[in-house]
Amino acid sequence: DKKTPDATTSMVCGFCATGCGLNIHLKEGEAVGLTPDTRYPVNIGMACPKGWEALAPLQSNERASQPLLRSSRDSQLEAVDWDTAMKAFSSKFKAVQEKHGKESVAFISTGQICTEEMAFLGSLSKFGMGIKHGDGNTRQCMATAVAAYKQSFGFDSPPYTYQDFEESDTIVLIGSNLCIAHPIMWQRVMRNKNQPKIIVIDPRKTETAVAATHHYPIAPKSDLTFFYGIAHILIANGWLDNDFIAKHTEQFDGFIEHVKTFTPEFVSQKSGIPAEDIYELACMIHEGKNVSFWWTMGVNQGYEATRTAQSIINLALMTGNIGRPGTGANSITGQCNAMGSRLFSNTTNLLGGHDFANPEHRAKVCEVLEIPDEVIPDAIGMPYNQIIDGIESGSIRGLWIIATNPVHSWINQGRLKKLLGQLDFLVVQDMYSTTETAVHADLVLPAAAWGEKDGTFINSERRIGLAKKVAKAPGQALSDFNIFRLIAQYWGCGELFKKWTSPEAVFQMLKMLTNNQPCDITGIEDYQMLDKNGGIQWPHPAGAELVDNQRRLFSDNQFYHPNGKAKFHYEAVKPLPEPSDNAFPFTLLTGRGTSAQWHTQTRTGKSKVLQALYPKHCYVEINPKDAHELGIESNSMVTLKSRRASIEATAFITPTVSPGQVFLPMHYSEVNQLIQDVFDPYSSQPNYKHSAVALFPA
Ligand code: SF4
Repeated sequence: DKKTPDATTSMVCGFCATGCGLNIHLKEGEAVGLTPDTRYPVNIGMACPKGWEALAPLQSNERASQPLLRSSRDSQLEAVDWDTAMKAFSSKFKAVQEKHGKESVAFISTGQICTEEMAFLGSLSKFGMGIKHGDGNTRQCMATAVAAYKQSFGFDSPPYTYQDFEESDTIVLIGSNLCIAHPIMWQRVMRNKNQPKIIVIDPRKTETAVAATHHYPIAPKSDLTFFYGIAHILIANGWLDNDFIAKHTEQFDGFIEHVKTFTPEFVSQKSGIPAEDIYELACMIHEGKNVSFWWTMGVNQGYEATRTAQSIINLALMTGNIGRPGTGANSITGQCNAMGSRLFSNTTNLLGGHDFANPEHRAKVCEVLEIPDEVIPDAIGMPYNQIIDGIESGSIRGLWIIATNPVHSWINQGRLKKLLGQLDFLVVQDMYSTTETAVHADLVLPAAAWGEKDGTFINSERRIGLAKKVAKAPGQALSDFNIFRLIAQYWGCGELFKKWTSPEAVFQMLKMLTNNQPCDITGIEDYQMLDKNGGIQWPHPAGAELVDNQRRLFSDNQFYHPNGKAKFHYEAVKPLPEPSDNAFPFTLLTGRGTSAQWHTQTRTGKSKVLQALYPKHCYVEINPKDAHELGIESNSMVTLKSRRASIEATAFITPTVSPGQVFLPMHYSEVNQLIQDVFDPYSSQPNYKHSAVALFPA
């Protein structure tokens, strides 16, 4: 039988940050099927629908299989060979840099490529091509958690292991629809034998809220006020771990003062939750022996998101719920390698969590990579939103987009689409030539996908897992790693990257860069060691023994600020950037709609199985009361209008949303046209979770 496998290998899934292990069944070295890995420490023998269908997107006839070039803005993309494509890449971008300065070319990358590829991109662009501004789509996803952890703990350090889902007695999920967004993590909750209280704080009655023991449907974006209110009750009742606070934290006295005015009555008025219910929640946090706090996009994608994430961190610190099994202030990551990007993309920090401005850090990078100091920029570049603003102002004239689809995913999408047309040269490097973004490109570089190349991903619990080549990329498509090698050669900076010969050679260099950092992985010998152990969590310094493969941070109560203490951060609550009013009376919420689709459906939309599990056309959740008042019937077409755009969707009448709110799943390309481009001041993460809209029968 052509499809009967003759071997099996194990590797990590390439969709979400859960980082499940998958057994790939091979016939003559090529993947012919997969099953979840029963021995991998993450996923306990399970996979979600996306994981089961992970091979299907590779087979699509929309794959980019050869470079495509447009000879002028009005002409069609035409197939060219790699030599022509690379000459165009170099000559066009160099011409832009010569005319408008080196900083006029920027890149937008992704949390979807391997760590070694991210590091190569960040190094090639910044050290080799003189690019200063580059960012990733992780800005839309995890930037808030990064900013919050850095300020609070002194390093970007999610403290948990998935085992904590099983060991808590009180699990507090904030802005996280774990059941469908991270379904395997939810399975870990279901294995908890402590009869845990499962508390969901979310405006929407999500699948997770329905399964919870307690649901607090707070008013959209009243979360910061709500958590200051919980802190107020804990302080007022003396429900604190005073010993922990005194020994291991600072700035708590200021925090006490800050939350004084957040009385239950005030918070009730702002959040819509009765004062006695707020008290009940504080009481449960106090009574829990091992309380874990988990948040994701409902918190991260807000206009005051960093302070909100820190208001959750503060609750864990003041009650001493950190560093022990079943505790933690835990940010759940989104993309399969958002964590790799956080440490090694060379954007928000110098490779390995270092500082561009620190002479010692620069010297270390120079020594390991064998590069001169003068090629390293002296500061981080602009974040995603400022790069987009730069296109509008004319300071950014060339853009290189790698493995992301901003024409679908970016906020206030219509503006971005228009701005792409103003660029002098746009390159899209992607596995498909048909994405909403690739069709605007002047040059498309065909990339191999997950499953067609080697490298590592880092998951939410800091586990470094291995991805392998188990299929051939179509046509002339190359791994992102090999595309970067070619670019280095054609750009004329190949000499700087002579050590960058293979993903594993790069892994060895990255490993050395982590020496003495909180994320030290110098004890990981090679890919084989990762493979054998089911991935390894950072830190794993040289000499450490791998006795327990489910490890958490801060068990010694030592944080990463120079004095070893964690900091309480807090700030005045800001008004809503776009409150509902007579013209736009509804609050628009967005989020994940299904476990069967991934983000923009760019890959998962190519699977017939996954397509069949989810509606093809955009739908909107509307409360029955609102539908009745507006004369909207179920399954009829409605118009949603914001100050930026107007779209149509099918009405799904359901009490998942409260009156005055509507919910749109992010998987449909029209949705982000509606959203206002507002950002958190510390993380620059977009505020996807709250915009004002009007609603009519279509
Ligand atoms: Fe696991 Fe996420 Fe892959 Fe699903 S998409 S199999 S939850 S890693």
